[in-house]
Amino acid sequence: MRAIRRFTVRTVLPAELAALGELVHNLRWSWHPETTDLFAEVDPRLWEQVGHDPVALLGAVDPRRLAELAADRRFLRRLADAADDLRDYMSSPKWYQTLPDAARAIAYFSPEYGIAAPLPQYSGGLGILAGDHLKAASDLGVPILAVGLLYRHGYFTQSLSPEGWQLEHYPSLDAGGLPLALLKEDDGTPVKVRVGLPGDRVLHAQLWVAQVGRVPLLLLDSDVADNDTAARDVTDRLYGGGTDHRLMQELLLGVGGVRAIRAYCRVTGHAEPEVFHTNEGHAGFLGLERIRELTEARLSFDEALEVVRAGTVFTTHTPVPAGIDRFPVDMIERQFGGDNAWPTVPVERILALGAEADPGRFNMAVMGMRLAQRVNGVSELHGEVSREMFKDLWPGFDLDEVPIGSITNGVHAPTWVGRELMELAGRELPSLIERARGWEGIQKVSDADIWDIRRTFRHRLVEAARARLRASWRARGASDAELGWIDDVLDPGVLTIGFARRVPSYKRLTLMLSDADRLRSLLLDADKPVQIVIAGKAHPADEGGKKLIQQIVTFTDQADVRHRIVFLPDYDMALAQFMVQGCDVWLNNPLRPLEASGTSGMKSALNGGLNLSIRDGWWDEWYDGTNGWAIPTADGVVDPDRRDELEAAGLYDLIEHEVADRFYDRAADGLPRRWLEMVKHTLTSLGPKVLATRMLRDYVVDLYTPAAKAARLLSADSYAAAKAFAAWRLRVTKAWPGVRVEHVETSGVGDAPEVGADLELRATIALGDLEPGDVLVQVAYGRVGPHDELLCPGYLTLAADDVDDDGRAHYSGTVPLDRTGAFGYTVRAVPFHEIAASPAELGLIVVPEEPAGMTNGTLR
Ligand SMILES: *Cc1c(COP(=O)(O)O)cnc(C)c1O
Repeated sequence: MRAIRRFTVRTVLPAELAALGELVHNLRWSWHPETTDLFAEVDPRLWEQVGHDPVALLGAVDPRRLAELAADRRFLRRLADAADDLRDYMSSPKWYQTLPDAARAIAYFSPEYGIAAPLPQYSGGLGILAGDHLKAASDLGVPILAVGLLYRHGYFTQSLSPEGWQLEHYPSLDAGGLPLALLKEDDGTPVKVRVGLPGDRVLHAQLWVAQVGRVPLLLLDSDVADNDTAARDVTDRLYGGGTDHRLMQELLLGVGGVRAIRAYCRVTGHAEPEVFHTNEGHAGFLGLERIRELTEARLSFDEALEVVRAGTVFTTHTPVPAGIDRFPVDMIERQFGGDNAWPTVPVERILALGAEADPGRFNMAVMGMRLAQRVNGVSELHGEVSREMFKDLWPGFDLDEVPIGSITNGVHAPTWVGRELMELAGRELPSLIERARGWEGIQKVSDADIWDIRRTFRHRLVEAARARLRASWRARGASDAELGWIDDVLDPGVLTIGFARRVPSYKRLTLMLSDADRLRSLLLDADKPVQIVIAGKAHPADEGGKKLIQQIVTFTDQADVRHRIVFLPDYDMALAQFMVQGCDVWLNNPLRPLEASGTSGMKSALNGGLNLSIRDGWWDEWYDGTNGWAIPTADGVVDPDRRDELEAAGLYDLIEHEVADRFYDRAADGLPRRWLEMVKHTLTSLGPKVLATRMLRDYVVDLYTPAAKAARLLSADSYAAAKAFAAWRLRVTKAWPGVRVEHVETSGVGDAPEVGADLELRATIALGDLEPGDVLVQVAYGRVGPHDELLCPGYLTLAADDVDDDGRAHYSGTVPLDRTGAFGYTVRAVPFHEIAASPAELGLIVVPEEPAGMTNGTLR
C-alpha cells in the first residue's frame, strides 16, 4: 500500500543540544565542513546512511544517543564553538558593509535554486548559478532576499532501464523533512499570499524560508488546503506540465513573489528591497506587480514604469531565440484582463511590454528588458550574442550601443573545491577564496603537495563511481554475482576526463562517439590510456536527448571498454562535486555560441582540473593558450554532421597528442612536472576570475548600486523625479519625429588630411518642439569598413552654440585625427536626460538622411 500523504515528525532536541537545530537549519553547513564534521559525530553510521542530510539525521537519530551527547562535555564544547562561529558569520560586517550608498536590500528572483543536494530544487546550470549567487552574497554580506518556488517533487531523479533508456522518478518531498521553516504571522498562523485568477479563482500559497547563510530564501508553495486541486498542483514539479502550468508558476513566482517579500518584511522587520533582480525571464511578472503597487499609490502607469525600471536588473541566459520564454497573447490577456484585470494597470499596456515580432506571442525576455533599466548576459560572448539577438528593440543604434552588458558567471569555491585543497589554500594562502588577490602564491606550493591532492580527489571519484555504477546495474536488473567486474572499473592512476551536464542537443553529449574506433583506441591505449566519466539528465520531454543518453550508455556497456568509460546516472550536486574534483580534464564541446557561459569547467579549474573545451561562453573569454586546451571550432561549416566530424577529430587529436602526452610525461620522482605547471597556471590565471565572489562584486558595483541610486533618486520627494522623467519621456517621444540632422560641415583639414590634425565640425539640428537641453548631439568617428560602416566608433559630444528663431540649433566640436588609415564620421542626435542609463534608453536616434558628412579620406 502507498501512503496518500507523508510528513516528517521532527525530533525534539534536548535543551543542551538546541544549537544543533540552529546549525541544521542554516544551510551554511553545506559549504562549511567543520559543521558537517559535527553532524557526522552525532552518529557516524547513520550520517552515511542518510547521505549526509542533517535534517534526515536528526529525524532518525536514536533519542538515547541524543541523551548521551547532551551529557558529553567535549561534544557540547564543539557544538558551542560551531554555534558561536555561525552567529559571528551571520552578524559580522563584511565587504558589502564598507560600501557607501549601496542598496539596503536586493530582491533576487529565480525559478530554481541549487543550494545543496538534500534540497533538489534545480535542474541545471541556471539553478546552480542562483545557489552560488546566494552563497557568495552571504559570504560578502550582500543583503539579498531571494524568492523561488518550492516544488513538491523537485526535479526528477534519473535511473536507467536495462536498455539504457532514461527513466524518471519524482520523489515526494515533504517540506517538514527539508531544512525549511514555515513563515508565520505573530499569532502563529501561516503567512499566505494570494494571486487572483480569471473566473473568480484565487491561487493561494504559503511561504517556506530556507536560510542560506545570511540570505533568506522564500519558497512559495501552492500545496495548501485553500486551493482547488489544479491550484495545489501549481508548484508540483520544476519544468513539468504545459503552457498553462508554466504561466501559473511564473505568476506565482513573479506576482506572488513580490507579495511574499512584502509579507516577509512586514513579519520580520527585514528592510524592503530597493533593487529587484530577475534571474532569467520566468520571474518577469514581478515588474507588473510593482507597477500595480505604485499605481494604486497614485502614480500613473508611465511614472510607475520609470520607478520600476530604475530599480530592476534583468539577466538573460539564453543565446537562442527558441530558448526564450513566450506565451500566447490571449493567455496573458485572459490573466490580466477581463474580470481579472487590475483596475490601475490596463491590460493593453501589459501586452505592449511583451510585444515581439510575432503578434500572437507574449515574450518574457522582451518584457524583462522593457521593465529593467539594466540588462546583462552571462559572459562577454553571450553579451555580444544577446545584443545581436535583441537589437531590434533599439532600432538605429549600433550593436555595441545596444544597452545589454555582461557579467561573466562564477562559482562558489567553498561549495565546489575539495576540502584538502581549501585547507591547503587556507594554510598557505590565507583568504584567497574571498579576495581576488594573492593567487600567484600558488606557484610557491610544491608540486608534490598539489599532485597528492589531485590523486586523492581522483581516488575518491573512482570509489564513488564504482558505488554508483553498482547501484545502477542493480537497478537495471543485474545480480551481484554478475557485477564482479565493477571492482576494477576505472583506474585511480589513469588520466581521467569528465563530461557532465544537462543533455540538450547543443551540448553534444555524443560528439565523443563520432569515431567510435578512435575513441576506443584512446581508451585502451597500452601506454597512455584515458578514462571517461560521463553524467547528465535529459529533459523528460526530450526524446532526442534520451536517445543520446542511450547511445552513450550502449557504448559504455561494452565489455572491452566498460572499465574505461562509465555513464553515472542521476547527475546532481553531490555527483558534480566528486566529478569536478576528481577529473584531471574537464571536457565541454557545445555548438558555439550556444553555451551562454557554462560553469562546471570553472568548478574543475578551481580544483586544479584542466579544461578541454570549445571556445564558447566563459572559456572564449579566459582561455589564454596555456591554461587548458581549446578544441578548434568549425564555426563556418554549415553541414552539422561535417562540423561535428571536424570538431571531434580536433578533440581526438588534442587528447592523443597533447593531453595524454603531458599527463604521462613523468620526472624521476614520478611527478608529471609539465602537467603540474599547467595546473598551477590554471589556478593562478583562472582562480581569481571564476569565483562567485568576483561575480557578486561585479553585480553590486556595476548593477545593484547604480540601480539603487537611480531608484532612490526617482522615488525621493513623493516620486518627483519619476514624474518629471515620465513626463519628459512622453514629451520627447511625441516630438521626436520633428528632430533632424539638417547640415554638417567640416574645416581644419585640407584635401590631404594628416595624422595630428584637428577636424572642426559644425552641425545644424532641427529641434522641432524640443529644447537644446533635451537632445545630445554627438559626432561618431573612427575607422571605417568597406561599406562606410564605422568600426568601434568613438563618440564626442558637440557643444550647443546658439538657436535660431525657427528652432534650428547649431553645434560644434573638434575631432582629433589621431590614427592613420581610413577614417569616417557622422553626426547623430539622441534624447538626453541625466536619469537615462544610456543614450539608447528611449530607443530614439536621428542621423543625417544622406551619409552627407562622411569623408573617407585616408590619413597619412
Ligand atoms: C555546475 C552544474 C551544472 C551546470 O554546468 P554547465 O557547465 O553550466 O553545464 C549543472 N548541473 C549540476 C549538478 C552542476 O553542478
